[in-house]
Amino acid sequence: MKMKALRWYGIHDVRAEEIDKPVPAAGEVLVRVLYAGICGSDLHIYNKGMFIQNIPETMGHEFCGVVEEAFEGSGFAPGDCVIANPMVPCGTCESCLRGSFNTCENLGFIGEVRQGCFTGYIALPADRLIRVSADADMKQMALAEPLAVAVNICKRASLKPDDSLAIIGAGPIGLLTAAVAHSVYGLQDITIVNRSETRRRIAEKLGARALAAIPQGQHFDKVVESAGSPSTLQMALESVRANGTVLVVSVFEENVTIDANILVCSQITLIGCNCYDREDLVTAADLITSGRVDVSPIITDVFPVEEGKTAFEKLCAREKQAAKILLQP
Ligand SMILES: [Zn+2]
Ligand SMILES: [Zn+2]
Repeated sequence: MKMKALRWYGIHDVRAEEIDKPVPAAGEVLVRVLYAGICGSDLHIYNKGMFIQNIPETMGHEFCGVVEEAFEGSGFAPGDCVIANPMVPCGTCESCLRGSFNTCENLGFIGEVRQGCFTGYIALPADRLIRVSADADMKQMALAEPLAVAVNICKRASLKPDDSLAIIGAGPIGLLTAAVAHSVYGLQDITIVNRSETRRRIAEKLGARALAAIPQGQHFDKVVESAGSPSTLQMALESVRANGTVLVVSVFEENVTIDANILVCSQITLIGCNCYDREDLVTAADLITSGRVDVSPIITDVFPVEEGKTAFEKLCAREKQAAKILLQP
């Protein structure tokens, strides 16, 4: 059987094509994809060709789906709703041997090093899947993976309810971090900075104050840098108070130089955040199922997989009209 897939051929060259439905190998479960989200890292692939190992490759690592075929002893049955841990760690580096898979030296993802989820079906090892409630809103559940990124950021930030928090960049990760900080950690003083009017409106629905720039001279206890440019990292360092914390969560497309004296003189703690662990994914799915975090304002569009190219173009437009776009097979 054939299925439509969105495949990467080169920079700005993604094509919707028919490919063979995967046949699960030993130890794998076959999942029918319900919704798949386009991630910031997919945009790095689209615009710069980063991360991706094979040409062509079916892109995508954020999704939720329904088990179609499971093997005896897999712990899954047909009809189970699932999300996946999309990380493909090497298993042999120092981090992997310590069980810290998100810091694997050779970390890959589905959609980069093997078939991704911008298609009808995906076969994955049973231990990569996490069962979720069938009662949950499946469009929101497609955001469990990026929500797990936000869960990890908030955990590493050691947030307290009376912290003032600034988030520079209102892409899905910045927006989800605001949602978790507000709804789970009880922060009331959250400022999100973004140029896009559309994204500022979304941020306000998630409990944040949304501004086009940080007001001159204002300082915050904690600042999250989720925009990924040299100027926004500098802005983060300048807008944190002395003895405060800056969390860097972006993937940068170029090398960045920082004024290290700001770190020293103001005793700033600089924390890097990458992905999540399995427990964060379980937490994220629970937050969506229970309705404790409402991620629906972030989902701006749903496109069929065939129109994936249009979705990528919309996300790369200068004036951002979209936040999270879901693809539906
Ligand atoms: Zn992602
Ligand atoms: Zn490794």
